[in-house]
Amino acid sequence: MGRCKRRHNMATDAKRRKIVNIFDEKKYDAAQWVHAILTLCSNMDNKSHVILTPQKIKTCNASTSKGTSFPKAFCDTEPYNECYMFGDIFQNGINVLRNYRETREAPKDQQLNFVLQKLLDFLNSKRSIKLRDNQNLHSISETELTVLVANHLLGKLGTSPCYLIDQNSCGKKQDECFCGEISCKMTGEYGDTSIGNVEVWHGNLDIIINDELAVEPLGENPDSPVGNSAVDNKLKSCLQRNPQIIAQTIVFSFLQKKKHPERSNFLTPCIGIGSTELLVMLYDSEHDVLLESSSIPLFENDFSLEFSFQAILVSWLTVNYKFFCSGIVETDEKHTSDFFFHAKEKMHIYEEKLKLGNVSTNNAHSVEKKFVLAPPNLIRSNFICETTRAFLISLAEEETSDCAASSDSGTDSSSKN
Ligand SMILES: [Zn+2]
Repeated sequence: MGRCKRRHNMATDAKRRKIVNIFDEKKYDAAQWVHAILTLCSNMDNKSHVILTPQKIKTCNASTSKGTSFPKAFCDTEPYNECYMFGDIFQNGINVLRNYRETREAPKDQQLNFVLQKLLDFLNSKRSIKLRDNQNLHSISETELTVLVANHLLGKLGTSPCYLIDQNSCGKKQDECFCGEISCKMTGEYGDTSIGNVEVWHGNLDIIINDELAVEPLGENPDSPVGNSAVDNKLKSCLQRNPQIIAQTIVFSFLQKKKHPERSNFLTPCIGIGSTELLVMLYDSEHDVLLESSSIPLFENDFSLEFSFQAILVSWLTVNYKFFCSGIVETDEKHTSDFFFHAKEKMHIYEEKLKLGNVSTNNAHSVEKKFVLAPPNLIRSNFICETTRAFLISLAEEETSDCAASSDSGTDSSSKN
């Protein structure tokens, strides 16, 4: 008994040492990382900041007499004139980052501690995808890219690496990931990803991460390779307010509310993956609020295929939304999406009769295109203003210490003996 306990203590000591190392390790550019956090809190440089814009539904087919599959979902939306910082909806996550930044200590809460380790592990590892010979970002389909991003980014940031891929998708059904690394295994599997109810919006999601998060390709035709990047740039403005993703996000939010009534809020995200960007759509099925993020660059550049700090940060907050999402801010309650109004005849189905799995579907694809309007007015809470000031001080400290480090190479912590 005594020996067993001693061994247990030794194991916990070893574990503690390992954790201390993870929390001390810093192989990434901390100034760039803090800058990425700031882009979620403030529009300081007025171009790279990540905002969420509430959407109002003008008309949609959420309650037609026959029920509609996702590819045929129609949802005409218009953005409100106000918007929010991404960090204001994920205050719990931003606080974890701030506390870690200021104290260098691991969170006391075990689950927060675990997901922060996941993030730090990711930041300290190789953050890029290596594709097979002769393949680049534009020679793989958007469905394949979505699976790659799930396997290499989203699955590595949450509490579980498990995810489910639509068994009807045209990707390669094998255990190995279709990047160039032979040792890279798929942590997801193919299966039934159908959700909804045949009487209302329903169909297959492309990927469901850990039963909690929907991931969808953003493109027009998920199964054909994307053209050159000039065409991509033209398409980019069309990727927002995608009716299929809106319908999937709304149905998934009602489903999560039914499954997890214990949650403090029901703002539920869906991640859309494009060839060079990602965006997050969120729906609150309690307050009827629909939010869409601005687009976030997936990679530092198209050639390195190294995930951008913004993409890592937004993905980490979104994958772990049940811990990090603080729900809509008070002023947002007036920004209702009017979904309750448009779906009023079938609200009882959305509220009570949605299913996960075994929902019959058909697989036609069609996507409505939209153009982006003028930028809305930004509303920032006291929380996010105060947090911005704190991170600006951190950034200044980081930049000062970078200068000191480069003028004093003798103390370089990365040198190995
Ligand atoms: Zn891989």
